[in-house]
Amino acid sequence: MIVATRNEHKLRELREALPGIELEPLPGRVELPPEDGETFAANALGKARAAHAATGGTAIADDSGIEAAALGGRPGVRSARYAGEGASDERNLEKLIRELEGAEDRRLAYVCAIALVAPDGSESLFEGRCTGTLADRPRGDGGFGYDPAFVPDDTGPGDERTMAELRPGEKHAISHRGRAARALAAHLGSAA
Ligand code: IMP
Repeated sequence: MIVATRNEHKLRELREALPGIELEPLPGRVELPPEDGETFAANALGKARAAHAATGGTAIADDSGIEAAALGGRPGVRSARYAGEGASDERNLEKLIRELEGAEDRRLAYVCAIALVAPDGSESLFEGRCTGTLADRPRGDGGFGYDPAFVPDDTGPGDERTMAELRPGEKHAISHRGRAARALAAHLGSAA
C-alpha cells in the first residue's frame, strides 16, 4: 500500500511499526492537498484520498501533532508550521519551549490519525494518543520533531528520558503513531 507522505521520518516509523506490510513511498507526481482541516482525521483522510485517486491502489496517510494542555491544545493540527510556514523542527520546538516557560501545567499529548482508503474507495480511520510532559531543555537525537523535549508518561515514573532518547522499538511501543499503526494492522488482519 502507498503511504501518502513526503515525510521520511513518518515513512520509516510506519515501516518499523508495521513489519510484514509492504509500504511504498508516494510517487513524486502525486500532489497532496494542503493540511488545512480542523482535525487530524480530516487531514489524514484528505491525503489518503488524494493518493488513492491518483494511483487506484490502497493508500494510507498519517496526520499527527502535539497538544499542550496549558495552550488549550495548541499547536495541534498546526504543529508542523507552529513557528511559521515551512519552519524547521528545531524552530517549532524552540517556540513550544518558549511558550511554556514558567507554566505550571507542562502536560502534552501526541495525537496521530491514520486514514486508510481501500481500492474500492471504502475509508477507515485509526487513532492513537501518547501523553507526556515537556522537558526543560531538549535531550537526545533519536526520533524527530518535538521528541527531544517530550518525556512520555508510559516509560514510568522516575524515567526522565525523552522520546529522542528511547530506542526506536521503545518509542513505537508507546507512541501515538505506534498505537494507531497497531489498530490499522489489527483491522487489516481481521479483514484478510
Ligand atoms: P503533519 O502530520 O505532517 O502535519 O506534521 C506533524 C507535526 O507534528 C510535525 O511538526 C512533527 O514534527 C510533529 N510530530 C508528529 N509526530 C511526531 C513524533 O512522533 N515525534 C515528534 N514530533 C512529531
